[in-house]
Amino acid sequence: MSIHAPEVANRIQLDERELPQRWYNIQADLPFPGSPPLHPATKQPVGPQDLAPLFPMELIKQEVSQERYIDIPQPIQEALRLWRPTPLMRATRLERELKTTARIYYKYEGGSPAGSHKPNTAVAQAFYNKAEGTKRLTTETGAGQWGSALAFATKIFELECMVYMVRISFEQKPYRKSMMRVWGAEVVPSPSDRTQAGKRIRAENPDSTGSLGIAISEAIEDAAGREDTKYSLGSVLNHVLMHQTIIGEEALVQMERAGAMPDVVVGCVGGGSNFSGLAFPFLRDRLGGRSKTRFLAVEPAASPSITRGKYAYDFGDTIGMTPLLKMHTLGHAFVPDGIHAGGLRYHGMAPLVSGLADHGFIEAVAYPQRTVFDAAVQFARTEGTIPAPETAHAIRAVIDEAVKARERGESPTILFNFSGHGLLDLAAYDAYFDGTLSDVTLSEARIQELVGSL
Ligand SMILES: *Cc1c(COP(=O)(O)O)cnc(C)c1O
Repeated sequence: MSIHAPEVANRIQLDERELPQRWYNIQADLPFPGSPPLHPATKQPVGPQDLAPLFPMELIKQEVSQERYIDIPQPIQEALRLWRPTPLMRATRLERELKTTARIYYKYEGGSPAGSHKPNTAVAQAFYNKAEGTKRLTTETGAGQWGSALAFATKIFELECMVYMVRISFEQKPYRKSMMRVWGAEVVPSPSDRTQAGKRIRAENPDSTGSLGIAISEAIEDAAGREDTKYSLGSVLNHVLMHQTIIGEEALVQMERAGAMPDVVVGCVGGGSNFSGLAFPFLRDRLGGRSKTRFLAVEPAASPSITRGKYAYDFGDTIGMTPLLKMHTLGHAFVPDGIHAGGLRYHGMAPLVSGLADHGFIEAVAYPQRTVFDAAVQFARTEGTIPAPETAHAIRAVIDEAVKARERGESPTILFNFSGHGLLDLAAYDAYFDGTLSDVTLSEARIQELVGSL
């Protein structure tokens, strides 16, 4: 056997010293006015003081900043270096199996301690809270990825952590709960009896399986009621999306080294953070008229906020405690079916993603879960790595784009975000193989009922 260099680079790794030093804030480059969050009671734009009980001032400033770049403080860089820069991979074996003329690249975010992109913002949020004297953080978690990311980050920066975990996931995904405990967080199933919001939902519906919207209400109520406690959100907000742009900034350098710029950038969307993190640095060139790259957001048919929701002001939680955000939404009363991509079961979408989609910069597509798992298994059997069910939504769309390219005789470069591995989601894979996975699609009548009152 001879040792020789591969014809194409399959793995483009950056040096530790090449970690990006700043985040990209797309708010500086939007070609349309932003829609400010509104106070839930007065319906007037919220000011910094309205948010101060929940967030440290530095994150509130980032939320409304018009600065194009924000420096990443050294202690955050040091934490990020535990797993960053992450590799860019070329999926040559998948390309061969699809007989596609497309080139497929992916940014691998599954190598972080929590196994997804979420620690990128968790360590930043924990740092700013610690710097401003916060002792304890509360949050909600769906499938458990965000809760485990924040549990890890609060341990790094020595904060206490309280996680309200959507009950159905608490029961279906016990190992995420175990991870949170390893990192020292307290975890309760939501709706819980710890908050008025939780008690109210349980009184109305004792069998409630919970939802992200309900868990957010609980985490906010807990934080608002205690002087030493603040609240942390894992997606949706502008500062969260900005913290994730480290993914795209790394990918830009790596794609340049691969000698290939993407014609289409793909990511799955729950609240929009992993998609934005990869897409926004590439969107910078599109907004500046320097590229024609397409951007494709992929959502589940069971929770189709961009493709079928309404673009309107809505609450981020179920009870109506958060500011009103202008976003694509299925209505804050929406409780999604228990599909396996728990991280994508949210009624709304990041205002930045919603605005960019509304102005034609971002396209969206929705898939039911069985075809998503077909794609996940095809990926694992060619590339090896087992994707999270969330990530598999992006892979479904990538495979469909690659097959279309073959049929049209085109050879586009496709880049997607591999947002997390699926090693804690194997029960979902078993359900797929046993044939017990069902496709749930939301009826138009139900959507109209949910968004009608917005
Ligand atoms: C949470 C999660 C998502 C969805 O959240 P976004 O904010 O839309 O990125 C996607 N993939 C994985 C692996 C996740 O953990």
